Amino acid sequence: MSFIPVFSFDNYIDANLRMGQLQEEGINCWLKDEHTVVIDPILTNAIGGIKLMVHETQKERAMDLLRIMRNREKENHACPHCGSFNVEYIITNRKASNWLMAIVTFLLGSYAVATEKRYHCFDCGEEFEEKDRNTDGTDLTDEGR
Ligand SMILES: [Zn+2]
Repeated sequence: MSFIPVFSFDNYIDANLRMGQLQEEGINCWLKDEHTVVIDPILTNAIGGIKLMVHETQKERAMDLLRIMRNREKENHACPHCGSFNVEYIITNRKASNWLMAIVTFLLGSYAVATEKRYHCFDCGEEFEEKDRNTDGTDLTDEGR
């Protein structure tokens, strides 16, 4: 049995949510470095986040499912300002809030800085925070759209 990483997460919640969704679809998967991440968020960035490990025979299926899930989530995000779905997920680096953060940033590079998840609307230019996740168990079988 060999497992390969197909995706990496920077937070525990996302990682477990995705793993659960994939397992519901019959994917044999688990999370690597999960505990390291919980203990030390800074180290998380250094080691590349929580890795979603999938059995190699299910890699293609898992990648498809992840892509579908991401598209679904995008559709769930309408601009609160104008209602447009023409939005894009962006990540903005938080400004270094203190000297320690500044040093960590300097040592590890900007990828280690905590990020904010935001969406940008192309129609009205509004930026907004991520809304509550849609976790109701919508099935992913009607892929053919
Ligand atoms: Zn808008």
